[in-house]
Amino acid sequence: MGLRARRGLGQRGFGRDEGAAAGASRRSRAPARLEVRDLHSGYGRLTVIHGVNLDVAPGEALGILGPNGAGKTTLITTVAGLLPVQAGTIELDGERIDAAPAHQRVAKGLALVPEGRQVIGSLSVKANLDVMLLARGRITHDPEHQARVAEMLEMFPSLGERLKLNATSLSGGEQQMLAIARALMCNPALLLLDEPSQGLAPTVVEELAERLAQIKGTVTMVLVEQSENVLLDVVDRRLRLRMGRVEGPAASLKER
Ligand code: ATP
Repeated sequence: MGLRARRGLGQRGFGRDEGAAAGASRRSRAPARLEVRDLHSGYGRLTVIHGVNLDVAPGEALGILGPNGAGKTTLITTVAGLLPVQAGTIELDGERIDAAPAHQRVAKGLALVPEGRQVIGSLSVKANLDVMLLARGRITHDPEHQARVAEMLEMFPSLGERLKLNATSLSGGEQQMLAIARALMCNPALLLLDEPSQGLAPTVVEELAERLAQIKGTVTMVLVEQSENVLLDVVDRRLRLRMGRVEGPAASLKER
């Protein structure tokens, strides 16, 4: 189901996009289970992540907290496939993905909202949303894609007012919304968010928390943050990372 349909929001209809949105709904993925076993990763011969285990149930939202240099970005980018695994395994819905390149993990349903947002500043807001489709060599008239864009603009209305502007002209908060919308354009089953609150005013972080609460349950989420803030109110469970290790007892699957 689509995000709105999965949250029971579809009944009020989507105006002229209703039919297209229903088409997208049929194609959307169910939330995935993420299992990380004894993961070691780092940079070249440097190991930063030392034997991390994660179990995230389908639809669960896990928060990972840790101070500067704890290894949060290293961990999340390794799961996304942007850093190689030194040892251990990563499974998405029971399928090993730790040897797959990043783009194949995206195809399997994994999406990353990277630290610092990394929207493509030279492209318009709309092109940032289209970029996943363009990367797959498809045209933007694809009805499923158009329905997804419509869904994103309903969820993030400020983007709709700025579709033709360059992404660099957006505020930090709007860029973060765009980065999240761009990740959701991939129709993910697992959404990884690396410090989305970074550099944002508290009121903007509150708005972001509302959006994440809206998404919650429709996609499995792993949210990395340096310190406690309202975004952590959204998660079901949190763990702490320090010096590349999970503190306390190993994370266990949430009972559902
Ligand atoms: P922050 O909250 O500041 O983003 P973090 O918890 O995300 O910190 P990482 O960025 O994963 O931490 O860094 C963990 C460790 O890995 C640090 O000691 C850092 O210096 C090191 N590190 C990060 N990137 C590289 C790199 N490209 N090459 C070598 N070491 C790196």
